[in-house]
Amino acid sequence: MNKFVVDAMLGKLALWLRLTGHDTIYDTDVHDDELLEIAKKTGRILLTSDEELFERAQNAKVESMLVRGTVDDRVVDVFIRYGIKPEVDPRIARCSKCNGGLIELTGSGKELIKNIVFEQTYNHYDTFWFCNDCESVYFMGGHWKNMIEYMNRIAAQIKSRKD
Ligand SMILES: [Zn+2]
Repeated sequence: MNKFVVDAMLGKLALWLRLTGHDTIYDTDVHDDELLEIAKKTGRILLTSDEELFERAQNAKVESMLVRGTVDDRVVDVFIRYGIKPEVDPRIARCSKCNGGLIELTGSGKELIKNIVFEQTYNHYDTFWFCNDCESVYFMGGHWKNMIEYMNRIAAQIKSRKD
């Protein structure tokens, strides 16, 4: 699976890459020069909306893509180019906030997050996903349904581009 480093203008794209399981560095404090260095050192693909940075990456023989347009366009373009399936699967997803790996908690394992989520939420869902790095908790509630709907919309756009 490809790994990415994404510039500060592409936060939404970074989120969807993480949720589809891609190790993605996105940090608004990291300067453009550092992004290129990170890509070079770690073999990550650099995604940028900055033409100058894109050209520098090309000159440095770093795999890079110039990403433009609306959020939808950006997600569709990158997913097509790198063969990414528009599916959010919690078993492979990474934390959308920090890029950490997620741990599945079910049965008595749920107790780990008992004090982090609302009691009602805790009782309602059997399975949670927990980020060890930033302690974010994910579960298949309304937010999750919105993510699935968005990925369906992206899937339809990918299909219509290919028709
Ligand atoms: Zn996290």
